[in-house]
Amino acid sequence: MFEHPLPLTIKPVKLARQEGKLSGFMPLQQLTTLAADCVSEEGRVEADLQLRMEQSRPEIHGTANAEVKLVCQRCLEPVAVKVDVSIALGFVQDEAQIAQLPESLEPFMLEEEEVPLAELLEQELILALPIVAYHDTCEPYPYAGKEEAEAAVADEKPNPFAVLEQLKDSLKKSDK
Ligand SMILES: [Zn+2]
Repeated sequence: MFEHPLPLTIKPVKLARQEGKLSGFMPLQQLTTLAADCVSEEGRVEADLQLRMEQSRPEIHGTANAEVKLVCQRCLEPVAVKVDVSIALGFVQDEAQIAQLPESLEPFMLEEEEVPLAELLEQELILALPIVAYHDTCEPYPYAGKEEAEAAVADEKPNPFAVLEQLKDSLKKSDK
């Protein structure tokens, strides 16, 4: 467990030039988009990150984890879900830079010098959330069959980061 809170915002270019490290925790309620997908704002995210410049591009690497409460799709009660992600982001400022990113890096749009750290952490953590959560010991409702599980999947909101991912893919394809 980390004792120190993470900063709310970071300056990626400056931090990467200094090869800065960030480790600490952030209350889940600061990560508003992630918290909106959960039944409770209680909890925290922990992250251990390192910034560096790579070919004049700031990058951030490390890990983040969180324990969040989702709705069990079998009993509809909250269920604690652990999410553990590795983070490898390249900061980009336009579509051309997205196209140049190595496959191993996810793009993060740098629109201003300073970015909210929560947004950066959420980008990976939200993608790692299970589509359907349930207690290991929970029995399915007798009437909750395949159809209901499929309906739960269809209800998922489109993920804004998935759009960015598609853009990255389509740019890569158009290169060829
Ligand atoms: Zn359950």
